[in-house]
Amino acid sequence: MADFSTPGGSGNDFISEFIREDLRSGRFDQVRTRFPPEPNGWLHIGHCKAFVLDFSMAERFGGLCNLRFDDTNPEKEDQTYVEAIKRDIRWMGCDWADREYYASDYYDYLYDLAVKIIRKGSAYVDDLSDEEVSLYRGTASASAGAFTETPPGKNSPYRDRSIEENLDLFARMRAGEFPDGARTLRARIDMTHPNLLLRDPMMYRIRRSNHYRTGDRWCIYPLYDFAHPLSDAKEGITHSLCSMEYEIHRPLYDWFIREAEVFPSRQIEFARLNLSHTVLSKRWLLKLVEEKYVSGWDDPRMPTIAGLRRRGYTPDSIRSFISQVGLAKVDSLVDIAFLEYCLREDLNKSALRVMAVLKPLKLIIENWERGKTEMMEAVNNPEDEGAGTRQLPFSGELWIEEEDFAENPLPKYYRLYPGNAVRLRYGYIVTCTGFDKDPVTGRIRSVRCTYDPSTRGGDAPDNRKVRGTIHWVSSREAVPLEARLYGHLFKAERPLAVPDGPDGRPGTFLDNLNPDSLEVLDGAWGEPSLASAAPGDRFQFERLGYFAADPDSTPDRRVFNRTVGLRDTWAKVKGKATQ
Ligand code: ATP
Ligand code: MG
Repeated sequence: MADFSTPGGSGNDFISEFIREDLRSGRFDQVRTRFPPEPNGWLHIGHCKAFVLDFSMAERFGGLCNLRFDDTNPEKEDQTYVEAIKRDIRWMGCDWADREYYASDYYDYLYDLAVKIIRKGSAYVDDLSDEEVSLYRGTASASAGAFTETPPGKNSPYRDRSIEENLDLFARMRAGEFPDGARTLRARIDMTHPNLLLRDPMMYRIRRSNHYRTGDRWCIYPLYDFAHPLSDAKEGITHSLCSMEYEIHRPLYDWFIREAEVFPSRQIEFARLNLSHTVLSKRWLLKLVEEKYVSGWDDPRMPTIAGLRRRGYTPDSIRSFISQVGLAKVDSLVDIAFLEYCLREDLNKSALRVMAVLKPLKLIIENWERGKTEMMEAVNNPEDEGAGTRQLPFSGELWIEEEDFAENPLPKYYRLYPGNAVRLRYGYIVTCTGFDKDPVTGRIRSVRCTYDPSTRGGDAPDNRKVRGTIHWVSSREAVPLEARLYGHLFKAERPLAVPDGPDGRPGTFLDNLNPDSLEVLDGAWGEPSLASAAPGDRFQFERLGYFAADPDSTPDRRVFNRTVGLRDTWAKVKGKATQ
């Protein structure tokens, strides 16, 4: 299993091998990587895989990793995205120090290289429209990928303009003499190349659009395939790691570096991360945000780093997940349950245990001295002795979970029912004596019991067998909570695989949204220690799952997101109790 996220780890993955070979052969004498996000959305866990890889490869080989905003697309980019991206990378523990760069700072440099390429006769200004360009390239008729049998393209009638004319026209494009879309600068490669991307790709287009950093200074903008390799070269990037979909762009990457005669950065591709029951594409995530299917980029159901953070994920659990998924050249779909497994493993070690009741039912202890409160000692984390203990108030009126009482229990139900005894965690053993039911609705309003004073702490001195243990919160001291429980954002494992609707209309991925992905329980109660929880604090609510305090909390009501259920243990307990 590749453990690329552990610098100093074995490093036996294919990327480490390439890098090692490049250092051995003298192709490079140091390692420089970069993470190049486009500031047009927030980062998701797929980007996280990419930048953890970029940073950890640099670290493993004693090199450095740059953060470069790949911002050459003025319509969609924005400073707020820049801020969000930086915050999320930092939260994951990656540090680019002062190596923060912007492709938009390279516009002059890129322009000069375009001129250099024109001077060599390797680029020309074209007057064809976008549609005509597609037609001439053969893309309009090609149905599938770039390597399908497409008939050779046709040269543009403007392809053989003189170098002088091209230089003049390109300068005038920059000066704003032509309307948007009237002309483009194209690389002069090969209109018959089987890889359509090499059929004279576009280098510059005219676009009068305000850029969030360069304002109206430019009316021509460079395209990705031209800007990216040359930006890498400018920063002396040795290994430009990117996802597999750029593999067919690699000949172009190398072509521009050769033609511009710049630092020979090397592109290496790896498989994208795909996760079940969600979408990892900014385009679709943006749609969910804009059309308000979620509360924002940081909605705890989103696969964004900010969403995962708000949900209660730890950077360690995400790193562990990424490292265990490992590196490959072939795309695969990772079950989101595996991400949850990594999270549970991590939280189990670190999260403080507390008691909270999500669907409360009043339990009245009939033989408890009125007004008396006892303090019970509770363990903060059985996995970590150093976490110590705390005192829990216990009184004659407690909240218990609705489903921990049954008027007519099924076989093997070991919790409360008339005549049965249960252990109240850290408290006493109680025996159910009756209940009070609303005659109209049939709802149980409260349950009555008596306690055995000799069982303090939950031990039965007479070795009586008490099979069930339930959690509780003393009602007088309880802190009001709102609990938000989450399901998968999408019902379908692959939300983007959408069959046509019954009416024959094409479906959309929105058809696969899970209508039950959020359940809000606003009448929950927590033990007193939860009053001081700060947003982001993580807990295990005993028997209920891991929870994280949400920034929506107010002094009157603490809001908690269920990060993940306990499933492994809880499903077993639950299965036994209700089978
Ligand atoms: P999206 O598909 O979400 O719009 P993008 O590739 O357009 O992603 P960029 O901001 O350009 O977004 O991505 C920055 C880097 O992150 C790229 O190098 C890209 O290869 C990588 N990346 C994006 N998505 C994934 C993914 N799912 N798995 C691994 N790497 C990814
Ligand atoms: Mg991109």
